[in-house]
Amino acid sequence: MEASVLTRTKTDSIKQILANQKKYFKTKATLPVDFRIKQLKKLKAGILKYETEILNAIEADLGKDHLGGYLTEVGFVLNDIEDALRNIRSWAKPKRKSTPLFHQKASSYVHSDPYGMTLIIAPWNYPFQLLFAPLVGAIAGGNTTVLKPSEVSIESTKVAVKMVKEIFDEEYVAIVDGGIPESQALLAEKFDYIFYTGSTHVGRIVYQAAAKHLTPVTLELGGKSPCIIDENTHIEYTAKRLLWGKLINAGQTCIAPDYIFVHQNIKDKMIAEFKKQIKAFFGDDPKGNSEYCKIINTRHFNRVKKLMNSGDIIYGGETDETASYIGPTIIDNVSPEDPIMQEEIFGPLIPIVPYNTMDEVVDFINDRPKPLALYVFSNNQKNINKILKETSSGGVCVNDTLMHIANPHLPFGGVGESGMGAYHGHASFTTFTHQKSVLHKSFLFDMPIRYNPYSAKTGNLLKTLLKRFNK
Ligand code: NAD
Repeated sequence: MEASVLTRTKTDSIKQILANQKKYFKTKATLPVDFRIKQLKKLKAGILKYETEILNAIEADLGKDHLGGYLTEVGFVLNDIEDALRNIRSWAKPKRKSTPLFHQKASSYVHSDPYGMTLIIAPWNYPFQLLFAPLVGAIAGGNTTVLKPSEVSIESTKVAVKMVKEIFDEEYVAIVDGGIPESQALLAEKFDYIFYTGSTHVGRIVYQAAAKHLTPVTLELGGKSPCIIDENTHIEYTAKRLLWGKLINAGQTCIAPDYIFVHQNIKDKMIAEFKKQIKAFFGDDPKGNSEYCKIINTRHFNRVKKLMNSGDIIYGGETDETASYIGPTIIDNVSPEDPIMQEEIFGPLIPIVPYNTMDEVVDFINDRPKPLALYVFSNNQKNINKILKETSSGGVCVNDTLMHIANPHLPFGGVGESGMGAYHGHASFTTFTHQKSVLHKSFLFDMPIRYNPYSAKTGNLLKTLLKRFNK
C-alpha cells in the first residue's frame, strides 16, 4: 500500500467542476433512462475491476477481512445496482394518480425529475458503501454528482478516487479528495440536492450551508440506538443476533445497538449468554482474529477507551493502542449521567441497563433524541406493539439487529436528530428525484361557472360541487 496521504482536490478547482457539471446537465445527456442504465453498468464493471483493491483498502483502514468487506460494502452496493437496473424503467415512468370529478376532464400523474447537480458527502465507517450506495440513487435519478469521501478512511478514499476518475468524466461524476476545508468549499456552492451521511454535529453544519441556497437535503445522521430485551425472549438467538450487530465493524456502525435494556428477571442469564457467544464468535483472543475489526484511528481509540471508565467492566476490557484494538466489553452498573450513556459509543462496548417495566423504557427513550434505529427482542406481541406505537425512531428491527437496512424494500433514514429523508431501493430513486405533480387538462369541456364574475347562485353551486366531487 502507498504512503497514507490524500492528494486533496484544490478548492479553486471546485468551482470549475461545478460549472462543468452545470453545463453538462444542461445538455440533457443524463435524462434518458438508457443513459442511466449504461452508467450503472459502468459503475458495476468498475467495482468488479477494482474489487480486490477496494477490499484491501477497507482491510487497511478498518482491519476488516475480505469476506466482511464484501458482505457489508462491495456486495451491498452491487445489490443496489442490480436492484436499480431491474426496476429503473418502472421507477422512471410517470405515476398515474386519480383525478376527482371536479377537475374533469383531466388526467393526473407524478413525474420524477432529476434534481440536477447533487453532492454526496460520506463518512469513514463504511467508506465504500456509504459513498457509492447513494451514488446509485443519484445516477438512477438522472443527476450529475460530486462525491466527497471521508479523509479519515484514507486507503478506501484513495481507491475510490482512482476508480471514479477512471469510470466517469468529471462533468458527470466527480470526486473531491480532502477533508473539512474541501467539504466546506463544496458546501459554499449551490447544489440542487445534498445527501450527507455522518455525525449529527456536522449534519447541523451541512443543513445550515444548504439553507443559504434553499437546497433540499437528506441527512443520514447518528446517535444512540437503544436495544430492549424483554423477559420473554429467546436467550440464545437474542445474544447472537444482538452481538453480531454490535460487534460487526467493531461497533463502528451508525445503527449498532448502542445500549442494552435487559429485563431485570433475565439479566444474569442474558449476560452469561453474551459472554458465551462472544467467545464462540471470536475465541478467547479477538485481537488475533481476522474477523474482528480495529478502531479506525488513535483519536477514536482514545475516545472509546475513555468511555470504558463508566460503570463496571464485567467482561473484556482489553485495549492495545498500537493495534488500535478494543475488545468486546460488557459494562454493568452504568448510570444515565455516565459519558457512555450520553454520547454515541461507536465502538465494541456493551452497557447493560436493567429495567422492570416497559413504561420505564418508553419514558427513557422518549426523553432523549429520536434514535436512528431501535431494537426489541421479545416473544410478547403486546410489548412489541407498545414499543412500536409509543416511541419514534428512524427504523425498528424486531428480534434482530441491522437487518432492516439490508431489505431494499424498506426505506432507511432517521428522524429528528438522527436525520431526515431516506434511501435504499426505490427510496433512493425518489430521494434523488423531485416528485413533480402534473394535472393535464383537456380542451374537450369547460365549466363556465368557474370564471368571474360570481353570482350568489354560481358561488353556492361551486361550493357544492367542490364538496361533493373533489374526492
Ligand atoms: P463526520 O461527520 O465527522 O464526517 C463525515 C463527512 O463530513 C466527511 O466526509 C468529512 O470530511 C465531512 N466533515 C467533517 N467535518 C466537517 C465540517 N466541519 N464541515 C463540513 N464537512 C465536514 O462523521 P464521521 O465521524 O465520519 O462518521 C461518524 C458518524 O456518522 C456517526 O455519528 C455515525 O452514527 C454517523 N453515520 C450515520 C450513518 C447513517 O446512515 N445514518 C451511516 C454511517 C455513519
